[in-house]
Amino acid sequence: MSLSIVESCVNCWACVDVCPNDAIYQASPHFMINPKKCTECEGEFADAQCASICPIEEAILDAANEPLNPLGSLTGIPPEKMAEAMTEIQGR
Ligand code: SF4
Ligand code: SF4
Repeated sequence: MSLSIVESCVNCWACVDVCPNDAIYQASPHFMINPKKCTECEGEFADAQCASICPIEEAILDAANEPLNPLGSLTGIPPEKMAEAMTEIQGR
């Protein structure tokens, strides 16, 4: 089982040094996780260390492609409020 990094990653490097298995590597256009090295931190930490430090919502997915930091989980802004605000901003 492995996590994956997707396109919303902003290449901030934060996750690289916290991975206990050196599973995260720089790639283009964004960092990637080597599925052969990622253990999902099981047996090592209570939480996936990469997702714990990642500042971007929906940048890291679990094996079922569900984000570990879903929309609103880091900003505290409910997704529907964010959608309303974006619609309002785009309508200016
Ligand atoms: S879940 Fe753990 S082992 Fe897998 S990439 Fe993230 S920090 Fe590394
Ligand atoms: S911490 Fe998140 S945004 Fe930063 S490089 Fe890792 S996956 Fe990308």
